[in-house]
Amino acid sequence: MIALRRIGVSGVEVRKPEQLQGLDSLIIPGGESTTMAKLANYHNLFPALREFVGAGKPVWGTCAGLIFLANKAVGQKSGGQELIGGLDCTVHRNFFGSQLQSFETELSVPMLAEKEGGNNTCRGVFIRAPAILDVGSDVEVLADCPVPADRPSITITSGEGVEEEVYSKDRVIVAVRQGNILATAFHPELTSDSRCLGHAMMLMDLCAPTDRHRFFLDMDKEYQAKAFSALSLSSTS
Ligand code: GLN
Repeated sequence: MIALRRIGVSGVEVRKPEQLQGLDSLIIPGGESTTMAKLANYHNLFPALREFVGAGKPVWGTCAGLIFLANKAVGQKSGGQELIGGLDCTVHRNFFGSQLQSFETELSVPMLAEKEGGNNTCRGVFIRAPAILDVGSDVEVLADCPVPADRPSITITSGEGVEEEVYSKDRVIVAVRQGNILATAFHPELTSDSRCLGHAMMLMDLCAPTDRHRFFLDMDKEYQAKAFSALSLSSTS
């Protein structure tokens, strides 16, 4: 919320189902997805969140928010956890390892080049970060990044208890879009470079299904600052 305010965007916090009413778009932030699921269950928030995503309104999940939006999450320490779903992908919850393996890197997001006159870089802050292991055919890959050498090898346990290595490629997917859903494994709001959050907002804009939800498309740079001020995540009505 502080990062949004920094770029002139206002929003409201959502903890209860009724607080989703009247909102145009939603950011599901990072944190710890098991705890977030417990809290969402406690407040009976899952049905309202699924309805919001299903209604086609722009939704952006960062890190634990990405996990929440995935149809399938692997890498839980024990048992499963409830997910909102809607994003046709499999996410590994702690792909990049623990807090100690948190890192920052420069990401290339080709889609941004269209909006930013060729500049398509975005600083990625990865904290106990998940990664996307595979995506369905409707999912657009926006960014991937090299797998760091110190990433611990990851395994999943099948129903029979057999462990298998599930990822051995050099690069891994860290940002995707499927229709109204944008998801990033990293935290654009945590860099000192406000451009990164602005970029994410622009990508979120691309997820807007109707003009009513469009905030940044077709605006040149001069207008972006104004658009940031004008955008309220709470409601435009
Ligand atoms: N890996 C964390 C989880 O399982 C997410 C970390 C984050 O949101 N920074 O929820």
